[in-house]
Parts: sequence; C-alpha cells; structure tokens
Amino acid sequence: MEKKSLKDIVVMGKKVLVRVDYNVPMDKAGNITEDTRIRATLPTLEFLLAQNAAVILASHLGRPKGAVVPEFSLKPVAERLAKLLGREVLFANDCVGPEAEEKAKALKGGQILLLENLRFHKEEEKNDPEFSRQLSVLADVLVNDAFGVSHRAHASVEGITKFIPAVAGFLMEKEILFVGNTVANPVAPFVAIIGGAKVSDKIGVIENLLSKVNTLIIGGGMANTFLAAQGYQTGKSLVEADKLELAKSLIEMAKKRGVNLLLPVDVVIAEKFAADAAHKAVAIDAIDPEWMALDIGPKTAEIYAKALEGSKTVVWNGPMGVFEMDAFANGTETVAKAVAASSATSIVGGGDSIAALEKVGLAAKITHISTGGGASLEYLEGKILPGIAALADK
Ligand code: ADP
Ligand code: MG
Repeated sequence: MEKKSLKDIVVMGKKVLVRVDYNVPMDKAGNITEDTRIRATLPTLEFLLAQNAAVILASHLGRPKGAVVPEFSLKPVAERLAKLLGREVLFANDCVGPEAEEKAKALKGGQILLLENLRFHKEEEKNDPEFSRQLSVLADVLVNDAFGVSHRAHASVEGITKFIPAVAGFLMEKEILFVGNTVANPVAPFVAIIGGAKVSDKIGVIENLLSKVNTLIIGGGMANTFLAAQGYQTGKSLVEADKLELAKSLIEMAKKRGVNLLLPVDVVIAEKFAADAAHKAVAIDAIDPEWMALDIGPKTAEIYAKALEGSKTVVWNGPMGVFEMDAFANGTETVAKAVAASSATSIVGGGDSIAALEKVGLAAKITHISTGGGASLEYLEGKILPGIAALADK
C-alpha cells in the first residue's frame, strides 16, 4: 500500500506534530556527543517551516521508563537544533497537558516547538488511548519521521493516528521506498549478503529474503553454524549448536527455490579471540580444532565480490567477520568495496554493518543506509510495522 508523505498534504498554516527520533548519545555532563539524528531531520523541518507550518516536535530519549528523569531531558536537543536551524526553538517542559497545549496553541506559522521527552509518561510505550488523544490535540496532522520506532505501536506513532491523520516525513519516506518497496519488488538480479554474529538474530531476514533473492551470501559468525551443519569441523568458532537443524533447512529451502546460496570456502582462523592473536587463512575442511574462524577467507571474499557484479539490487546486513579487529576485517572490507562499486540499488542496514562502511569511508556510495536498527531488521523480515501501517494511504 502506498503511503502519503508530507508532500501529499497541505501543511501551509497548519499545526504539524513531527515525531522525530532525537535519541542522541550524550555524555555524563549532558552534552550531545553525536547529532546525526538531529541533522537527518532538517530536510523535513525546513520543508515544513518554508511552508509556514507551525512545527511541534516530539521525541523520546533514553530509557526513563515512564518517570521524569532530568538526565533524559530533551532541553539540550532544543539548543542544538536551534543552532543547526539558525532559528529559535521553543521548549515545553511536558509533552502533554496545559503548558504543551498553551505553547502549541500560541505557536505561529514558521515557529518551532520541541516537547519534553515522550517517555517521561509510561502511557507512551503502552499506546494509551487517552495519552494519544492528549498528544493529538496539539496539532492538525502528524508527520512521522521516526523510522527507528516504527516497529513499536507507541502512542506517538500509532495511537495518535486514531485521532489525527499521519503522513511520512522525508526520512520515513526513504525507508519505505528502499527497505519496503525495493525489497518487496526487487529488480533482478537481487543479491543479499547476510552476516553478523549469530544466525538466531537473522532467521527472519534470511527466511524472508530467500523467497526474493537470486543469490544469498552468508558470512560472519553465522557462517560457522552453516559449515557445522554440513559436517565441517569448526573448532572453537562461534557455532549455535541449537540452530544446526535450522541451518540445514535453510540450505534445503535455498535449493528448492533455486537460490544460489554462497557459503565460505575458506576462513581466517585465530588461536584466540584477540586483535593480536596468531591467525591464518585455511580451507573450510582444515579448521584447527583448537582455533576459531573470525573472518571469511580471501578466496571467499573474492567469490562474494564477484557474485555482486551485474547485480541490480543488493541488500547487506551484518559484517563478514570480526571487522573491529584489523586482522579479521578483510572479508567485510572486500564486500563493502564490492557493494560500493556496484551500480545496483544498494541497501545497507545494521549498526555494525554501517560502522564497517564508515570505517572504510564508503557510506556515501550506498543508495540507502537504513538507520532503524531493530526497525530495519523487522522491515527486512517482511513484517508490517505498526508505525508505517498507521500512515494514511495514498
Ligand atoms: P549488524 O549490527 O550489522 O546487524 P550484527 O550485530 O548482527 O551486525 O553482528 C556484528 C558482530 O558480529 C560484530 O561485532 C562482529 O565482530 C561479529 N562477528 C562477525 N563475524 C564473527 C565471527 N566469525 N565470530 C564472532 N563474531 C563475529
Ligand atoms: Mg549489531
């Protein structure tokens, strides 16, 4: 179903509540250490302000668990946002109630008001109808630009839409377009690269993508479970013993569907889990019983990079090895370079995969970087996300 975005509605002169994700990292003194999430919302905000909308912002920050916890106040965010926008950002000390209502009512077109942390009220995460209603009275329409919470049915993303209509902000619109539409209707050849520590984290993603991809590439710690399932000696590698049967059935499923499933042919093994551990590349039938596989091997990396050539759609989630340690970063870096070099529509999700891309300076070469964390993963699993389902249909 096509969802409306803020370009599909008239916002001129309206009161617009924008649900943003300003859950930024802060140090002990309350200074914002990283403001990517704030900067990412500027296109949506600048569009609304240029249309003379009165903009009311709502966000969560940290885990105050329904209590007023001063260290999770959004006040420092108001100051940072004011600097970034080059204009005044008003602040309300509560997200609902008399102060918020008065300030929202007095807000003029072109002005901007940030509400205090939504999660100071336990009703937010409980999707409480009365709390949803109280939020809704502040505005005429909701613009949801907080993709990172769209897998949660919370009051500010779901409950509120029972009272006022909701549309996607620009950030949300990109996630729907790339992670939603592209993955649902991919242009072939479609190659997915799945890695990371554990199969158990990514079962849903693998199962969903198996019905859509032409090639599925498996790397990272989870590849060991697939190797063990095929009877290889995996030594002290990270293997999920309770997922061997699952790995076997995924291999079967790939066969049945005609998916080209690629598993490592060689691995980099190490004497221990340490940056300075003795290490060497070996074929998968030569893993030392006392050692552990911490990266795909150079032959595998080359095969994986080659498999990406000519692809039209690429989804990558999860590093190929322990990329945080230089000795085990080659597999991830080779794949990162191949994804970046490809002319395919490329979509990358997962905090560590994004960190790996940034480490090699290739993030800008990716078509879409999905910043949703848990929401990205559930979206890649093909799930219906409540925050997206609640947006008005076109
Ligand atoms: P993402 O955040 O991109 O979704 P994950 O969180 O699933 O990725 O997995 C990333 C983690 O997996 C990294 O910390 C990495 O060190 C670890 N990892 C990758 N390969 C291995 C391996 N062979 N053995 C142990 N850990 C691994
Ligand atoms: Mg991770």
